[in-house]
Amino acid sequence: MSDTPPALPGFTTWPSFPFEGDLRVKRLEEPVETEPARAGEDPNECSACATPDEAYIYVNDRWRVRAMDRPSGLPMVLILESRSHLDLGDLPNMLAAELGVMTVRLERAIRSLDGVGRVHVSRLGDGSAHLHVWFMARPYGYLQLRGPFLPLWDEILPPIPESQWRENLALVAAWLAEFGGTPLAQPPRIDWKAPAKLEEIERAELSEPTDQEPAEGKEPTEGREFTDHSESTADTESTVHWEPVEPADGSTKPTTD
Ligand SMILES: [Zn+2]
Repeated sequence: MSDTPPALPGFTTWPSFPFEGDLRVKRLEEPVETEPARAGEDPNECSACATPDEAYIYVNDRWRVRAMDRPSGLPMVLILESRSHLDLGDLPNMLAAELGVMTVRLERAIRSLDGVGRVHVSRLGDGSAHLHVWFMARPYGYLQLRGPFLPLWDEILPPIPESQWRENLALVAAWLAEFGGTPLAQPPRIDWKAPAKLEEIERAELSEPTDQEPAEGKEPTEGREFTDHSESTADTESTVHWEPVEPADGSTKPTTD
């Protein structure tokens, strides 16, 4: 009777467990003698170390915060990384203390977003060697999403609207920058449903009866462009302008605290 699968654990009956139907426990494989190297174990091949600041939503001298490359099911999923190639247990005391401060700060920033009920914080470390801490926002009121299956639900739920996602990223970046560092995410400045509209307005303003050079005219093609390739229903055609922020502008303050 050794082929009889073990009984299903109790959590498969929890409301938060995302699956139903006939389930079977997988057979546990034999342990390996030597575990394979994680991604980026060699600093020269570490993708985090090789990624420029521009790919992050916020940076300071010792920490960087990045988002996924597109919206997912949860209101916010962010990763906090040390700038140095270190793992959790390698952090010197000063960085270890700062990790605590940054963790609290980021949790508070994400929790301040509309519709966020809780922020789950986790460090697994099995995939990549470079220290990275996950922050996942659970939407308020969705009691079924409470607990350890939140990362699974993130992939199951339909992606949130890209506009909301970008606005949330900008709010978090601005909040963090209140304590120093550089926010690199800004909310979309234009109506990306009709990008030509603003262009027309600017052109109209610039074509006032004067010979002035359009020195203040902003090229709508400036900055990086992000095209949503996801298969979400609404915004498949949209192109959102995504520009690095000028530092120390001071005009984008968090709304609370
Ligand atoms: Zn690294």
